[in-house]
Amino acid sequence: MTKYKLEYIWLDGYTPVPNLRGKTQIKEFDSFPTLEQLPLWGFDGSSTMQAEGSNSDCVLKPVSVYPDPARTNGALVMCEVMMPDGVTPHPTNKRATILDDEGAWFGFEQEYFFYENGRPLGFPDQGFPAPQGTYYTGVGFSNVGSIAREIVEEHLDQCLAAGINHEGINAEVAKGQWEFQIFGKGSKKAADEIWMARYLLQRLTEKYGIDIEYHCKPLGDTDWNGSGMHCNFSTKFMREVGGKAYFEALMEAFGKNWKEHIDVYGPDNHMRLTGKHETAPWNKFSWGVADRGASIRVPHSFIKNDYKGYLEDRRPNSQGDPYAIASQVLKTIAEVSTE
Ligand code: ADP
Ligand code: MN
Ligand code: MN
Ligand code: MN
Ligand code: MN
Repeated sequence: MTKYKLEYIWLDGYTPVPNLRGKTQIKEFDSFPTLEQLPLWGFDGSSTMQAEGSNSDCVLKPVSVYPDPARTNGALVMCEVMMPDGVTPHPTNKRATILDDEGAWFGFEQEYFFYENGRPLGFPDQGFPAPQGTYYTGVGFSNVGSIAREIVEEHLDQCLAAGINHEGINAEVAKGQWEFQIFGKGSKKAADEIWMARYLLQRLTEKYGIDIEYHCKPLGDTDWNGSGMHCNFSTKFMREVGGKAYFEALMEAFGKNWKEHIDVYGPDNHMRLTGKHETAPWNKFSWGVADRGASIRVPHSFIKNDYKGYLEDRRPNSQGDPYAIASQVLKTIAEVSTE
C-alpha cells in the first residue's frame, strides 16, 4: 500500500467569479486511485460562501482525477460541490447543469496576464512599455521578459504530466499576456481540464510571487488588449451532417439567446467586447466567415466542408466559468431541430 496525497479541488460560491479551493487528505491505495475508489469528502461551506454557519457542511464529490506532477504520490481530484445529502447538486455547482453532451467536443483558448506588484509582468513601475505590436508570438527579452517563458514552459510540462489534453501555448498581444489551449471530447472533460490547468498555473506561480490576472480588461479603456477564452465547439451532428439550413437555424438560435450567453460568458465583458481589438459588440450577435470581429467565427474549412465542422464563439472571456459556458452553448444547440 502507498500513501497518496489527494488534493480535492472545487469551486467556491463567490460571485461573479468562483475561486478555486483545495485541501489535502492522505489515503492508502495499492496503486494510483481510480475515480470510483475516491471517497466523498466535506468542507466548511460557511467559509466559502456556500453555506450558513449554523448548517455549514457541504459535500465534495470527485468527478475526475489526475496525477499531481508537483507532488510525490499526489493526485489532483476535481470535485463537484453537493448538498449535505451528497446527491443534490449545490446551487453553485454549474457542472451539474450541463446537458447530456454525447459527442460534443470543446476547445477553450484561455488568455491571461501575469501580474507582479499589481502591474502586468514586464511593465515599468510608471507608465507603459512599448505599444503592442511585437509581443504576440514574440521572442526575446524585450518582448517576453526573463521569467514568463520559464513559467509557461513549466506549466505546459505539468499539464502534460497530469494527462490534461493541452494543445498549445502562445505569447499574446499585450506584454505579460499569454494563452494556452485545451481540447476535450466531452464538454465536462474540457471544462474540468481548464479548471485544473488554471489550478496548476496559480499554484505554480506562488513561488515566483506572481499572480494570474484573469479579468477580461485589466488595463481598462486603453489600447491594451483584453483577455478572452474563445470557445470552439462541435457536436457529432455538426461534424457529420451539418448543412447550410442547420447552420442558419443554429445561428438564429444563438442570436435569439445572445443575452443568456453573455450572462455566463464572464463579468465586465462590455469592457472587452467593444467592437475594437478583434471583438464584436457585446450586445449585438453576429457571425462571419474567418471574421475575428464577429461573435462567432466560422472557419473557412467549415464552409468548404458543406457546413460541417466546428464553430468558434469568441465572446466568452478569460474569467468565464467553462462549465457555465459549455452548459449554455449546449442548451442553445438543443433548441435547434436536427430533423
Ligand atoms: P485561433 O487562435 O486561431 O482561434 P487556436 O489554435 O488557438 O486558434 O484554437 C483553436 C481551437 O479549436 C483549439 O483549442 C482546438 O482544439 C479547437 N478545435 C479544433 N477542432 C475542433 C472541433 N472539431 N470541435 C471543437 N473544437 C475544435
Ligand atoms: Mn479543521
Ligand atoms: Mn488561439
Ligand atoms: Mn488568443
Ligand atoms: Mn480563437
